[in-house]
Amino acid sequence: QPYDKLSATKQNRKLDIVNQLHHAIDNNEFSLVYQPVVKLADGSIVSSEALLRWTTKKGETIGPDEFIPIAENSGQIIDIGNWVLQQACQQCKIWHDAGATHHAMAINVSSHQLKDPQFSKRLSDILTRLSLPAALIHIEITENSIITEDKKSVATLHELSELGTRLLLDDFGTGYSCLSYLKDLPFDVLKIDKSFMPANNTIASTIIAMGHELNMEIIAEGIETEMCYKFLKNLKCQYGQGYLFQKPVPASEFDTFKRFNFD
Ligand code: C2E
Ligand code: CA
Ligand code: CA
Ligand code: CA
Repeated sequence: QPYDKLSATKQNRKLDIVNQLHHAIDNNEFSLVYQPVVKLADGSIVSSEALLRWTTKKGETIGPDEFIPIAENSGQIIDIGNWVLQQACQQCKIWHDAGATHHAMAINVSSHQLKDPQFSKRLSDILTRLSLPAALIHIEITENSIITEDKKSVATLHELSELGTRLLLDDFGTGYSCLSYLKDLPFDVLKIDKSFMPANNTIASTIIAMGHELNMEIIAEGIETEMCYKFLKNLKCQYGQGYLFQKPVPASEFDTFKRFNFD
């Protein structure tokens, strides 16, 4: 049966990844790369998004789209997520001390981490230790992972908001959920999913108009062309991210003071 063989292979791959993830932190196999978030009005960089990279001991590069869901299932996402939190805050502090005092750091957080009752405490401890303002930390949570029935997750979101971090709703527009949660949860920013780019379609413009109505800021992801950038800028979408500006790079190659100009 080809189907059984296929699923057995997939199962083995998952087990193999779980085993390799086990020592990945101790072996220094993870790193973070950073992608700028650009203010479309003037091309300046306002923040960067930390994205996780993994090269295994065997030298294989495995993407977060593959290993994050596996780490969520195995529970390993908690330790990995804490490592990311620590590293990204530390990098934010380095840039802050280098004079980029308003440069914020966006960190992707799994819904499994939101269920961890220690999460907001852990973040606030890191910020205290680094003496870094909470407003410089942006927490990205995917729309699909928002479970409004989960009391612990909702409590964590409110704790984070009270701490002063900004909350970003990632992959916005890809979920099927009813939008009423937007008025109950303390989200500040919508990130339009890159599947809606290039933006010459009604979905992106509808989301931008809705963001304006709701008084939420909008970040468009996946901007790859100048045409797309100009379209979004004309619609008064405030921020954008994408290969047009810069691919994610290691901190050593990132210039927080760079300005992008296409006019
Ligand atoms: P995401 O948060 O939606 O991140 C955006 C993804 O789009 C990134 O892929 C980024 O490299 C890619 N991207 C950026 N600009 C462009 C563009 O112009 N065109 C295209 N086609 N793609 C672009 P990446 O780094 O492979 O990450 C994939 C996903 O893995 C992320 O999607 C996020 O959901 C997850 N992820 C990454 N790092 C972390 C992490 O530290 N923690 C957690 N929980 N999830 C993470
Ligand atoms: Ca993200
Ligand atoms: Ca996204
Ligand atoms: Ca995504």
